[in-house]
Amino acid sequence: MGLSYALRWPGWTGEEKPHLPEPTGPLTRERPQWHAETREAVLQGLGTDPEKGITWAQARERLREYGPNELKIQPRETWYRILARQFANTLIIILLLAALISFAAGEVGDVLTILAIVLLNGLLGFFQEWQAENALAALAKMLAPTCKGIREGQVKVLEARLLVPGDLVLLEPGDRVPADLRLLEAVNLEADESALTGESLPVPKSVAPVPPNTPLADRSSMVWMGTHITNGRGLGVVVATGMATEFGQIAQLAETVQQEPTPLQRRLALLAKQLGVLSLITGILVLLAGLLVGKPLKDLFLTGVALAVAVVPEGLPAVVTLTLALGVRAMVRRRVLLRKLQAAEALGGVTTICTDKTGTLTKNEMTVRRIWLASGEVEVTGVGYEPSGHFLLGAQRLDPQEHPDLLALLETGLWCNHSSLYRDETGWHPRGDPTEVALLVAALKAGLSLPERKGILSEFSFNALRKRMTVVWEKAEGLVAHVKGAPEVILDRCTRILKNGKEWPLTPEDRRAIEAAYARMAKTGLRTLALAKRQLTGEIPLREETVERDLVFLGLVGLLDPPRPEVPAAIRTAQEAGIRVLMITGEAAPTALALARQIGLRAERAVTGPEIEELEDEELLGLLEGGVVFARTTPEHKLRIVHLLKRRGEVVAMTGDGVNDAPALRKADVGIAMGLRGTDVAKSASDVVLLDDNFASLIRGVEEGRRQYDNIQKFIRYLLTSNIGEVIAILLNLLLGGPLVFLPVQILWINLITDSLTAVALGMEPAEKDVMKRRPRKPSEPLLDRRGVLAVLLLGGYIGASALWLFYHTLQRGAPQALAQTLAFTGIVILEKFNVLNFRSLRMPLAALGFFTNPWLLGAWVLSLGLQACAVYVPFLQEALHTVPLGWKEWGLMLLWALPIFLIPEFIKWVGWQKTRRG
Ligand code: ATP
Repeated sequence: MGLSYALRWPGWTGEEKPHLPEPTGPLTRERPQWHAETREAVLQGLGTDPEKGITWAQARERLREYGPNELKIQPRETWYRILARQFANTLIIILLLAALISFAAGEVGDVLTILAIVLLNGLLGFFQEWQAENALAALAKMLAPTCKGIREGQVKVLEARLLVPGDLVLLEPGDRVPADLRLLEAVNLEADESALTGESLPVPKSVAPVPPNTPLADRSSMVWMGTHITNGRGLGVVVATGMATEFGQIAQLAETVQQEPTPLQRRLALLAKQLGVLSLITGILVLLAGLLVGKPLKDLFLTGVALAVAVVPEGLPAVVTLTLALGVRAMVRRRVLLRKLQAAEALGGVTTICTDKTGTLTKNEMTVRRIWLASGEVEVTGVGYEPSGHFLLGAQRLDPQEHPDLLALLETGLWCNHSSLYRDETGWHPRGDPTEVALLVAALKAGLSLPERKGILSEFSFNALRKRMTVVWEKAEGLVAHVKGAPEVILDRCTRILKNGKEWPLTPEDRRAIEAAYARMAKTGLRTLALAKRQLTGEIPLREETVERDLVFLGLVGLLDPPRPEVPAAIRTAQEAGIRVLMITGEAAPTALALARQIGLRAERAVTGPEIEELEDEELLGLLEGGVVFARTTPEHKLRIVHLLKRRGEVVAMTGDGVNDAPALRKADVGIAMGLRGTDVAKSASDVVLLDDNFASLIRGVEEGRRQYDNIQKFIRYLLTSNIGEVIAILLNLLLGGPLVFLPVQILWINLITDSLTAVALGMEPAEKDVMKRRPRKPSEPLLDRRGVLAVLLLGGYIGASALWLFYHTLQRGAPQALAQTLAFTGIVILEKFNVLNFRSLRMPLAALGFFTNPWLLGAWVLSLGLQACAVYVPFLQEALHTVPLGWKEWGLMLLWALPIFLIPEFIKWVGWQKTRRG
């Protein structure tokens, strides 16, 4: 049994195209017993070439026949359901009731207007939700799971959705199994099937057929869709896709973007509900009070409805949804993919970021720089992935072929390796784990050629817990185990050392020399790895504990992995924003410390995983205050640190990429998986995926999250002032006993049309200059703090009083009631347009912000004022909204009332701003 050429050699194209027989056996429909068939029978049944897979043409044809590899459990929202939902709320019911009563009173015009507004409101809500839906669908597409498949002899990254029965799929640790597969090759393959069978321990897999009636959980020759690989390597052929898989059969799993309402949306829904109840109660009270004093029923009813409509910020939910959806796109532009809408809010509120090192803070482009051997220390030259460079011992150039120690080390680096290189017009490119690519390039620099790749007998995979990897080969001289890993882990398992081509017992002096070399290398920031091997003689069982011992120490390699150039600035930004950045890495302490200092992290000491285990919770928390870096940690340590931080009330973001990182990612307030190097398991446990793995993108995401939260706060205040203004005007008017100041349709027009437009534009407000200079908001901070409530009440009070003044002033002039109403109605719109300028920033005056910095708002201004002019001058709208034309004098009067609502707060903000600037 051995791994095929294709498995070892991603990109290998094979010779000529084989003639593939068409599938003969039934594919999946009659649920054949693939697990009981031999490898050959399965391949024949599916018409698959064991090396080359199926052809693209066959794949296309089968896709047509079997459909995409998808679980159709949660169908996408259809447009008509979204539309229908718009009309199923209390407001609509109130309005329809109003229409009914107007109809009874013979006011056909009002009935038509109310119906038109109901329709318009529905369409507006529909349009906004549809936008949000589309943004999420686009996200889901970007998150679409992929896998490594083989078609026409070439290894390709395939969208899991497009897999068909007969496709060959490569499996490695961390992969989510994309369909039901019959295994063709398996080297120490293990799968976590807990999602399917409930079995929590990984299950070993092999190629041998099992009896036909074996229960699902024991079919070791199969791996199932939705489970994931925890160890080893394998190759399988797809036998069932989509709903035909076992997962599809029990219809359990849906890997869609989660769409639960965000905490913000929940809070808003609650607010809306409370306001709704309030409006109903006030409406009824007004009705009763009016009846008692003997007012005409129709007037009373209209006042009641107007009040009910005025209390509720009808436009708010749609504006929030649209802003969050647009926010998703803004995040993608910053290379941050949200898996849940609520992640933006959480990201904006982060107080601590726990980040790993390799690939997030560093470039993850590694090159071997130094090699320590018992017989001397060697420097390696050359840049990038190009396999050319020299080996220098002091000033002297070495021929590796004549240096048995160097050769043995480089060979082990090559044989304990799954990476590959390929070349195109732009140069050399890596494929696989960067640590392994570096070792491969070093071996190629020495002129080593790739071994005959058919003899892998067994493998113990690398993971963050083991910190080592072993591959057992069958060679002419017998079985050889090639091992690499963290130096302390490897050294613990060595009893001999290679020196001048011979194996010697490993003495305490050797040990000290190795440890000193390790410390030297790590201190300069080199990522240090040890290599070892063992000739397996006799009948040693191929298990971890029997193979990975009595090793021969070959040497150390120091790999250079430079920091990403943009990271120091990002760290500074995070620090200025009051966000603590904690490095929690699997790397060795000195290497981690060296890097931390290089990128400007406060790093006074490193605490390692074993040390963490010795610490009480309180001690560990105490450590976080002084600049500490956590090194040589395992995912369990990450979990503990997140847990402690959260207990202290912090909002924690945690990055991760490995299979074992999933629990910590789930536990964190924002779990962040790496888009490029992250495993499927880490991605599906996360809230956010960093498309370029870059810490700097994460900080840009935080900034964007803060911007969105700020803007939501702004437009909530803005919309509420309008509602408060309307309510105050109606209630005051009731006390004064005057005629109806606004009609319900006019309030609806304000709330749904003119205010919504400017609110959406307010949601597009660019980030304020100091957005990353402020401390994170407190998790307990309400959406509307005391200052906010005060602002809303004062500004709303001013709006309401102004509208009433305009109304009564006009009436007193002896003008008709319709003109007074039109003036009060238009007055509120104009006042709101000036008021919106107050909310472009809650702190900065417009003078500092710049008038033209939000072009969307300018557009919305022009549009909503234009619409209001139409409401007043276009005949059919005049009829619908009960308006009459206004003259210049009236416009001037409204402008006069509107200016102070902007000028006074602007002046107060300006004074405050000058003070903070001086301070
Ligand atoms: P981070 O946690 O910041 O990503 P890391 O990559 O160093 O850092 P791990 O992936 O947990 O963390 O690796 C821990 C150690 O295991 C490394 O420092 C290295 O010594 C060793 N190691 C890394 N990759 C391999 C590999 N492919 N084979 C064998 N050993 C490895």
